[in-house]
Amino acid sequence: MDGETVSKNFIENIIDEDIREGHTKEVVTRFPPEPNGYLHIGHAKSILLNYGLSEEYNGAFHLRFDDTNPTKEKNEFVDSIQKDVEWLGAKWEGEVRFASDYFPQMYEAAVKLIKKGKAYVSDLNAEQIREYRGTLTEPGKNDPNRDRSVEENLQLFEDMKAGKYEDGSMVLRAKIDMSSSNINMRDPILYRVAHISHHRTGDTWCIYPMYDFAHPIEDAIEGISHSICTLEFEDHRPLYNWVVTELEYEYPPKQIEFSKLYLEHVVTGKRYIKKLVETGIVDGWDDPRLVSLSGLRRRGFTPESIKKFCELVGVTKSQGAVEYPMLEYCIREDLKPKVKRMMAVLDPVKLVIDNYPEDQVEYMDVPNNQENEELGSRKVPFTKELYIEREDFMEEPVKKYFRMFPGNEVRLMSAYFVTCTGCEKDENGNVTVIHGTYDPETRGGNCNTRKVKGTIHWVSATEGKQVKARLYENIVDESKPVYDEETGEVNVNPTSLTEVCAVVEPELLHAEKEDRFQFVRNGYFVADLKDSEEGKPVFNRIVSLKSSFKLPTA
Ligand code: ATP
Ligand code: MG
Repeated sequence: MDGETVSKNFIENIIDEDIREGHTKEVVTRFPPEPNGYLHIGHAKSILLNYGLSEEYNGAFHLRFDDTNPTKEKNEFVDSIQKDVEWLGAKWEGEVRFASDYFPQMYEAAVKLIKKGKAYVSDLNAEQIREYRGTLTEPGKNDPNRDRSVEENLQLFEDMKAGKYEDGSMVLRAKIDMSSSNINMRDPILYRVAHISHHRTGDTWCIYPMYDFAHPIEDAIEGISHSICTLEFEDHRPLYNWVVTELEYEYPPKQIEFSKLYLEHVVTGKRYIKKLVETGIVDGWDDPRLVSLSGLRRRGFTPESIKKFCELVGVTKSQGAVEYPMLEYCIREDLKPKVKRMMAVLDPVKLVIDNYPEDQVEYMDVPNNQENEELGSRKVPFTKELYIEREDFMEEPVKKYFRMFPGNEVRLMSAYFVTCTGCEKDENGNVTVIHGTYDPETRGGNCNTRKVKGTIHWVSATEGKQVKARLYENIVDESKPVYDEETGEVNVNPTSLTEVCAVVEPELLHAEKEDRFQFVRNGYFVADLKDSEEGKPVFNRIVSLKSSFKLPTA
C-alpha cells in the first residue's frame, strides 16, 4: 500500500492535534513487552505501529522490557524479543531499556504520593481487599487503614521495603475513591511484598510495583509522548492519568488504546503458544507452524510481508479477527517479483523419453522469473530420464485434464514437447515409469506449428538432487473451534506437518539458509534457518501458489 494516499488512522489524528495544541514537542513511542514468552504476529502490529509513528513524526522509538513482575520473566525471552524486533526492522533509540532500572524512581514516586496523602499502607489480606472492593453494582467500603497518618505510612512503607513483612501481608494502596464506578479507581494496590529474586535486580527488592502504577511512571521517565496499548487497558486509563497527574510530570504521557490483532483459526495468545511448546506438540517457539515471529521467520515470511499485512489490517478500535489467507497474500505479493522460480518435484514419478540419446545432457536456458527480467536465467540439465509430479500423469484422464496421459502431447517447461506413449506398473497397479517421445524441433518448449494445453515441470533423474521438504497445514484443526470448550486445549490438526523427499534442480543444493524460491506450481519455499546444512538444504513451504484471498476493492 502506498502510504501517501491512505487516510490517517485515529492515532495519527490524535497526535496531529497534540502537536498543533502544543502538548507534544516530540513524538516518542515505545514497545513494552513483558519478557515472559516469544513475540507473535500481534506484537508485530504493535511494534510496527509504534516504530512507524516515531519515523513518521521524526521522533524516537524505545524498546523497554516491562519486567516488573519477577515470577515469570526470563533472560531467554529478553534475547529472543530483541532479535525479533531487530528482524522486523524497528530501530530503537539508545540502549534497550528495562522497567526494573526505574525501581528506585518508582519507590520515590510512591513516597511522594504518601507525603501528599494520596497513598497508604494497608494490612488487609487479599481476600479482605476483594471484599471491601465492592462489585460492579455496589460501591466499595473504605479500608480501615485508609486514614493512617503520613508519618506512619512512611514508616510502614520503609519497613515493607526493608523486608519486615511477609509476602501478601502488606500493600501500598492509592487513596482515590472506593465508590468510583470504575473498579480500577477503588484504591488500587500500588506495591506488594514479594520475596522473589528478579532476573536483573536479584534480591535488592522485596517489594514490587503493580503494573498500573509502574507503567505510567516508566513512560513519564522516558519522555514517552503517546503510550499506545491494546483495548483491555481502556478502563485503566483513568488510573494512568491519575498517576501521571498526582506525580506532577511536566509532560505527562498520553495513553491511547487500539484493538488487538487476531487471526481466525490461529493460536496467537502467548499462553497457548507456550502450552503447545511445553507439551511438545510443536518443536519449540520457532516451529514454522506457529505465528510467533521466530516461527514466521523460519517458515519463510519476510519482515516486508508482515509490514504489508499490518498496513492492510489497519489500526482501529473495533475488535475483529483477520483471515490467515490475508497474511499469505502478503508474502506471495512480496516474493512474486523477488525470487527465482525453480523446478522441484515433490512427489516424483519417472518419465523416460525413449527417443532421447542415452547419455546426453542438454543445458536448457530457463528464465529465473518471467515477471522480473533482472533476475536473468539459468541452465537446467535435461536428460533421457526425468522426474515429474505423480499427479501430472493419469492413465485414464478425467475431463479437462491436459497433462500427461497416453497419446497426449505436453510441454516440459522450457525444454521440449513430449508425447506420452504409455506407462509401466507394479503388481499393485501403481505407476512406476511413464514413457514418452520428444520432438527435437521444439527445443526450449516452443513450436510454431501446433499448440499444447499442458505445461509441466520436471527434474533430471540423473542430474537432479534429493532434498528434504516440509509441507505444512494449520496446526489448528480448522473443522473445530481453536480451543476445546471443555478442556481449554488447542484442537490440534494431526496432519499439520508432512515431510517429503523432493527432487530438485542441482542449483538448489547451494541454497543458503533463508534463501527463498518459488518452486513452480508447488509454492514458495525457504531453506530452513535451523536444519539446513552446507550443500544440504531443508526446504519449508512458506505458502502454496493458489489463494482464496481477494484484496477488497475500495
Ligand atoms: P499475549 O496476549 O499474547 O500474552 P501480552 O499482551 O501479554 O500478549 P505483552 O508482552 O504484555 O504481551 O505485550 C507487549 C505489547 O504488545 C503490549 O503493548 C500489548 O498491548 C501488545 N500486544 C500484545 N498482543 C497484541 C495483539 N494481538 N495485537 C496487537 N498488540 C498486541
Ligand atoms: Mg501481558
